[in-house]
Amino acid sequence: MNNDVILKVDGLKTYFNTDDGIVKAVDGVSFELKKGETLGLVGESGSGKSVSNLSIMKLIPSPPGKIMAGTAIIDGKEDIFTMTEAQIRELRGNRIAMIFQDPMTSLNPFLRISTQMIETLVLHQNMSKKEALVKSIDMLELVGIPHPDKRVHDYPHQFSGGMRQRVMIAMALSCDPEILIADEPTSALDVTIQAQILELIQSLSKRLGTAVIMITHDLDVVAGMCDTVIVMYAGRIVEKGTNDEIFDDPKHPYTRGLIKSVPRLDRPAAGRLFSIEGQPPNVIDLPACCPFHPRCGEVMAKCKNITPGVTKLENGREVRCFLYEGDK
Ligand code: SF4
Repeated sequence: MNNDVILKVDGLKTYFNTDDGIVKAVDGVSFELKKGETLGLVGESGSGKSVSNLSIMKLIPSPPGKIMAGTAIIDGKEDIFTMTEAQIRELRGNRIAMIFQDPMTSLNPFLRISTQMIETLVLHQNMSKKEALVKSIDMLELVGIPHPDKRVHDYPHQFSGGMRQRVMIAMALSCDPEILIADEPTSALDVTIQAQILELIQSLSKRLGTAVIMITHDLDVVAGMCDTVIVMYAGRIVEKGTNDEIFDDPKHPYTRGLIKSVPRLDRPAAGRLFSIEGQPPNVIDLPACCPFHPRCGEVMAKCKNITPGVTKLENGREVRCFLYEGDK
């Protein structure tokens, strides 16, 4: 494995057993994350992007969920899926940290920020309480909280939504993780605060050398921010490329539709904004086909009966669509 690769996910399959059948939420996902890289994972709800990352953190509720196949090798050595509970606890927070759309998922409303940050640092970094308080204040300052020495003793409800998100980022990065997984971190914030939080994540990851997986349904969020973009649909990766490749020359009809549906200030308004017709498929007992075919403007006969494989294009770019079969 390339020495720069911090995480290599290969053939991940995560299924859920339901009364209606087996939901193949993630069905054969493979990707690599390099040290310090920002990777965007984009798709509609139910595309499998969040389940992929919850699988990597071994946070899939079981039952009904189960990781059926695949490996997730961290740092070229250990497979996360075969780690013991104690190793996983050590991994979470210390080596891989997560931030969510709602900061209250991570913050305890009844405890002061100082108590929560100190507890994390004492547990994961073997610090004394005094050292942990100093580090907590430093981290709050780093994420732009004014008067961090005073605000560290506040409760979560005393912060605005944007400031709470900054506190959560400070907590997540306090143990110097190698990987930060950000799951829709700005979806609940208004647009100006959203831009500030994305800028903050980007500048901190560059400064601290943290690799970031940015999960979002909004292609606009990853534009310009991510080095690599992965587009998911119905539990599979349908396109993978660099930020420029995906935005300048999208290949898969679904990616093209997503890009067309993003409002752009630099283009003249021409009537209604484009939207992809139809709904994502039910991933229970999906027959052999391209799952995007009912919504695809370029559908061919074979798209309805055969599942397209991955076509590798130049520079390691990948697309899962019959339109590119035979291309190199
Ligand atoms: Fe469209 Fe066929 Fe490509 Fe699927 S495989 S995206 S249906 S052209």
